[in-house]
Amino acid sequence: MKKILMLTASFVMAAGFVGSAAYAQNAEAEAAAAKVSAAAALARANATTSDSDPLEKICRIGPHSREVDIQKIAPFKVFDNLYHVGPCYVTSWILTTPQGNIMFDTSQEPFIGLIEENIKKVGIDPKSIKYIIINHGHTDHFGGAKRLQALTGARVVAAAEDWKMIEETAGKPNNRDSGKPTDAPKRDMVVKEGDHLDLGDQHLIIHTAPGHTPGDLFIEGLVLHDGAQTYKGIWGGGGLGAPGLAGAEQGVKNAEKLNAIKGVQVYVMTHSWQDPNGYPGGGVLARSVKLASRKAGEPHPFVDPATWDARAKRQLEQAKKVLADEQAKAKK
Ligand SMILES: [Zn+2]
Repeated sequence: MKKILMLTASFVMAAGFVGSAAYAQNAEAEAAAAKVSAAAALARANATTSDSDPLEKICRIGPHSREVDIQKIAPFKVFDNLYHVGPCYVTSWILTTPQGNIMFDTSQEPFIGLIEENIKKVGIDPKSIKYIIINHGHTDHFGGAKRLQALTGARVVAAAEDWKMIEETAGKPNNRDSGKPTDAPKRDMVVKEGDHLDLGDQHLIIHTAPGHTPGDLFIEGLVLHDGAQTYKGIWGGGGLGAPGLAGAEQGVKNAEKLNAIKGVQVYVMTHSWQDPNGYPGGGVLARSVKLASRKAGEPHPFVDPATWDARAKRQLEQAKKVLADEQAKAKK
């Protein structure tokens, strides 16, 4: 008995040692990455734009992008069952079904009044929204969830890891709302890799892609209607893994998961721009301009399987490169 106890104790110590060494390494990598992304955010915040720049650039960078009037854009219908109701910066979508509607991302204050107005402008009853799915636990994606949940009565959906982030962000200053405290929803519906969400003709499959945040989601199986045509869409796409070797390994897994989904025709973006990966053919706003002048019989500007495939392939290539670099670093 005594022997077993001792064995257990030494095992715990060994495990503890390996664990904290790995943690220290990871914390260092994370701190370095945080510095880089903070510098990038600062550069974006201070960058200058001119009025002749495309709206998606003005919405994204420079002090101008913080102005509420710039962010207040009119809602638009992209497919017979998909509406853009968000501000310029974060893409808030509503996917409609005969049995109720699904909202993707809420954006944040001070734009929630705009979203309420936009929902009504496109003729959707807020109470018909059954689910609000949060892409990940950053304020620009979940910041309006509490207020919109109160308006709609919807279930708010996120991965457990990012519910934790949401809870930790509650009360912290909202960078786009003059530092007012962030209002966060209570932990509601928790999803994980492979879960299904069925509503009406939508049979959504939920995937996690840890990296940008620990519980970053992307969703396959969106059925998008355009008259008699039906297209297969994906919402979000995840990105590279977290800093460090383990994160790089996860990044390759994420990209492989994404590439395993075949036949994607429409990329439903979480932001109207796609940075830093680019999305040739244009983001949401550029494509919406083309959509507005589309004539009968012309192809739908959001249906672009070749660009999606290229994006998915590029994500895998980048993830493999990051992994090779991390493996080389680990060998030194
Ligand atoms: Zn984010």
